[in-house]
Amino acid sequence: MATKGHLFIISGPSGAGKSTILVAILKKRPQLRYSISCTTRPPRGGEENGVEYHFVSEAVFRRKIDNGEFAEWAEVHGHLYGTSATYVEEVLVRGLDILLDIDVQGAKRLSAKYPEAISVFVTPPNMEELEKRLLKRGVDSLAAVQRRLKNAKAEVAQAHDYGHVVVNDDLAQSVSDLESIIEEASGNE
Ligand code: ADP
Ligand code: 5GP
Repeated sequence: MATKGHLFIISGPSGAGKSTILVAILKKRPQLRYSISCTTRPPRGGEENGVEYHFVSEAVFRRKIDNGEFAEWAEVHGHLYGTSATYVEEVLVRGLDILLDIDVQGAKRLSAKYPEAISVFVTPPNMEELEKRLLKRGVDSLAAVQRRLKNAKAEVAQAHDYGHVVVNDDLAQSVSDLESIIEEASGNE
């Protein structure tokens, strides 16, 4: 039987730098796959349907839940987000490694479904820096930034549930840390 790929679950507070790290890694390692989630969150300026997310209405999202299309789904910061079950399974069966950027609730559910998954929590060096990054990103309203900061405290408190923690201070170092985690998983066979 062919070897299955590895599933990497990446979580961390909004603004910690998950997307930035993942984009850099995917550029360096084109054989890696990324699971594009479905969301009811409206696209931010510069986001494209099918690139960062599949943007859908709440009705469509609820239909997908009813049809069992999600490996996991959760409400995060007031919007619904879900991971396609078939995409993840197809990639793994093809023997390819896949990265998921999902919240702490989704990570818990998926780790239960895939106990062999490798989980990584990306955290900012401190809350002041997180606020700076959320404001610098400049895509969320002030109210949305406040909500994300408030949720960040509860999220960071769950970092100990993850197999690895990456403190995203220096970006190049964080990319290299995540690459080492990915390599370690392949070397542990
Ligand atoms: P997330 O995907 O975790 O919500 P982003 O990747 O969108 O976070 O990053 C939030 C903001 O922080 C972006 O403006 C990004 O350019 C910036 N950023 C990411 N990593 C770092 C870092 N190591 N140092 C400084 N700024 C960073
Ligand atoms: P954002 O709106 O900033 O892109 O993402 C907000 C949060 O939703 C982040 O914590 C991100 O990890 C999480 N998220 C994105 N996609 C999914 C998903 O498919 N499932 C779950 N549970 N969370 C997701």
